[in-house]
Amino acid sequence: MSTQTLTGLALAVIGLVSAALVSAAGEFKVGVGKVVITPTQDMWLAGYAARSKPSEGKLHDLYAKALAIEDETGARTVLVTSDLIGVPAALVNEVARRAREKFELPRERLMVTVSHTHSGPVLQDRLQHMYGLDETQTRLLVEYSKTLPTLFLQAIEGALKDLQPGRVEWGVGRAGFAVNRRQYTLGGVINASNPIGPVDHDVPVLKVSRPDGSIKAVVHGYACHNTTLNLQKFSGDYAGFAQAYLEAKLPGATALFVCGCGGDANPLPRGTVELAQKYGAELAEAVLAVVKQPLTELMGPIRVAFKEVSLGLSPPPTRTEVEKQLLDLNIYIQRRAKVLLKTLDEKGELPTTYPYPVQVWQFADGMQMIALGGEVVVDYSLRLKYELGRERTWVIGYANDVCAYIPSLRVLREGGYEGAESMIYYGHHGPWAPTIEENILRTVHELAGPAKK
Ligand SMILES: [Zn+2]
Repeated sequence: MSTQTLTGLALAVIGLVSAALVSAAGEFKVGVGKVVITPTQDMWLAGYAARSKPSEGKLHDLYAKALAIEDETGARTVLVTSDLIGVPAALVNEVARRAREKFELPRERLMVTVSHTHSGPVLQDRLQHMYGLDETQTRLLVEYSKTLPTLFLQAIEGALKDLQPGRVEWGVGRAGFAVNRRQYTLGGVINASNPIGPVDHDVPVLKVSRPDGSIKAVVHGYACHNTTLNLQKFSGDYAGFAQAYLEAKLPGATALFVCGCGGDANPLPRGTVELAQKYGAELAEAVLAVVKQPLTELMGPIRVAFKEVSLGLSPPPTRTEVEKQLLDLNIYIQRRAKVLLKTLDEKGELPTTYPYPVQVWQFADGMQMIALGGEVVVDYSLRLKYELGRERTWVIGYANDVCAYIPSLRVLREGGYEGAESMIYYGHHGPWAPTIEENILRTVHELAGPAKK
C-alpha cells in the first residue's frame, strides 16, 4: 500500500466520520404515547368548591400523553401532559422514581404537566380538603390517585417504544379568548373580567414531523384557566376540545396541551359546551396556522436543568390562633385549620418555606422551555419573555407540582384570590413571602444561563 493510498484512505475515513457527525447533529428520534385516564366510575369533580354531587358520565375521555425526544447524544427527554386539574409533588416524584428505575430517565429530563381542567376528578393532593368529601368519595379519590403513576408510566413507555427519526420545529401563534380575571373595585380585587388587565395570548407550538413530512405530534400551549365548563361530566374543557380537534384535522398526529401562566386568566364568557368547543377550535386553528408556516428547526443536544427552590411563606400562626380558626364563620378556613392542626400534631410546627420546582430545557439553537410549578400568574410569562427573549422562550405553568397559586409581587401586594385567598384552599397557613418573584426569577436565570443575543 503506497503512502498516497494510505493518506487517501485516512482522508476518506475522516470524511466518513465528519459526514456521520454532520448528519447526526440535530437529528432527533421522537416518540409519542397516549393513555386514557378517565375514571371508570363517577366521582367528585375537581376545581369548584361549590359542587354538590359526583360526576355523571363524560363529554369525552381524559388522557395522559407523553412526547419523548432522543437527541444525538442518546439522551432522552420526556414531556408528559394530562387532562387533570393538578399534580402534587408526591405523585410526580413517584412517576420520576419509577421512570428512573425502569427507563433510566433522569429527573431533570422528565416534565409532568396538567391542563388544569375543572372537569376532571378530585385527586389526593393539597386541594382535596376543600371539598369536605365523605368517606366513600374520599376512598374513590385515593384509589384513583393511586392508579395515576402507572398510567403515566404507560404513556412514557409508549413514547419511548415509539422513538423514530423526526424533525422538531417551533413557532408561535395567537388566540384571543383568555381574559384577565382580576377586576379592580373600590372593595378590592374580585374574580371577574378585567379587559384592561395583562394577558399572554401567545400560542407556542412544537411541531414534530416524520421523515415523509407527515405530522406526528403538535405540542401547544396557552396561558388561560381551563374553566369554560362547570358541568357534572368529565372532560378536558377547551384544551380537551382543542386536542381532539387537532387530532381530527391532522390524522396520525397526537396533540399535547400544556398550560401557560394562566393563573389569573379565564376563558370569557364561559359556561356552555358550545363555548368550550369554540375556544378549543380557536386554539386548534391557531396551532394549524402555525404548522403551515415555515418554522424554526430545533437542534440537539437538549440541555436540561431542574431545581427545587425554597420559597418563603409568611410567618406561621400559633397553635392557639389555628384553634381559633376552627370556629371561623368561613367553612374553608375551618377545614384548613383541621389540616394545619394535623401538621402541628405530626411535625410540631408549621412550615416556613416550600420546595418549589423550576425546570429548564434548552435546545442547541437556544429555544428554551421554562416550566414552573403551581398556578403561575401571567406576570411571570411576560417578565421572562422580556428578560430572556420572546422569540426563544416558552413559559409553562402547572408543571411538576401544582402546590398553590404563584403570584408576582404585584399580585401578592394587591391581594385577592390569586394573591392571598387561594392559599386557604391549598391548605397553606398564609400568603407567600414578598421574596417569591425574585426567588423564582433568580432560579430561572441560574438554570437558563445568560440570555443569548
Ligand atoms: Zn386554578
